[in-house]
Amino acid sequence: MSIQSIIVCGAGTMGSGIAQVAARYGHETFLFDLDPSALERARTQILRAWQTLVEKGHLSPVERDQASARLHFTLTAVRADLVIEAIVERLDAKIGLFQSLAPHCDGQTIFASNTSSLSIDALQHALPHPGRVAGLHFFNPAPLMKLVEVVRGAHTDPSVADALSALVRSWDKVPVSCKDAPGFIVNRVARPYYLEALRMAESGASGFASIDRIAEASGFRMGPFRLMDLIGNDINLAVTRSLYEASGNAPRFKPSPLQEGTVARGELGRKTGKGYYTYV
Ligand code: NAD
Repeated sequence: MSIQSIIVCGAGTMGSGIAQVAARYGHETFLFDLDPSALERARTQILRAWQTLVEKGHLSPVERDQASARLHFTLTAVRADLVIEAIVERLDAKIGLFQSLAPHCDGQTIFASNTSSLSIDALQHALPHPGRVAGLHFFNPAPLMKLVEVVRGAHTDPSVADALSALVRSWDKVPVSCKDAPGFIVNRVARPYYLEALRMAESGASGFASIDRIAEASGFRMGPFRLMDLIGNDINLAVTRSLYEASGNAPRFKPSPLQEGTVARGELGRKTGKGYYTYV
């Protein structure tokens, strides 16, 4: 199964990183967003990232120019062999996007979702070729993080999962296969890391910076508050809500009022310049 062209939908934190990798590894890549300013930000960020790689000797100027020529920024969706969606973490939005693309695609197009927590089965039910739908869950920042979860829904054709795993390997990343389950593997395992830290801060037991310092001194690459600011507090909260719902409101996944307040104030983290910390 050959994947030549890729459309990445959503030019935010994740979509821009995924498109950067796809174009770098030889795919004709279309980065699609409804918001022109998101596309402009993504263009600046990707070109800057490639320039840094050139300066460090990891990419030749010719490779940079070739990757750049393969990457197209678009306000309207186009047909491709593989669709990777990285739009808002809302099932209705993701279904709406896939359904709007499906009539322009043949039965061979693969529809992959970068969702952190939503049900791949629910996406499959809404599309004409459920076997062509899977999860392809990258981590942030996508160009650097090696792990990618390849999520099989109940109807995902094994050849589709195999093709996605092969694609991930060809991008010098490591695919981990899992079945559709709330939070898949990583987001389920990581939920207590965020929620317990939020509860601790809520109770006044300790502040964000102290909790982060202790976590980092214990070996975590990033403390929970710095990591939530990197992920985006809106995205992180959406994942918690969806796990809470999927678990039948298990108390251990109960969303945090502290995080809800942070999101309600628009303090989404690095992407808005303020979250638990302030960024200049
Ligand atoms: P983001 O808010 O940074 O970007 C989302 C982008 O999607 C925005 O630019 C928005 O304009 C665009 N968009 C919204 N609706 C659209 C539509 N219908 N068509 C085209 N574009 C549309 O979000 P993000 O952090 O990149 O997250 C995107 C997805 O990736 C979510 O499903 C999230 O759960 C998942 N994810 C996020 C992270 C993370 O660390 N942020 C990690 C892994 C997976």
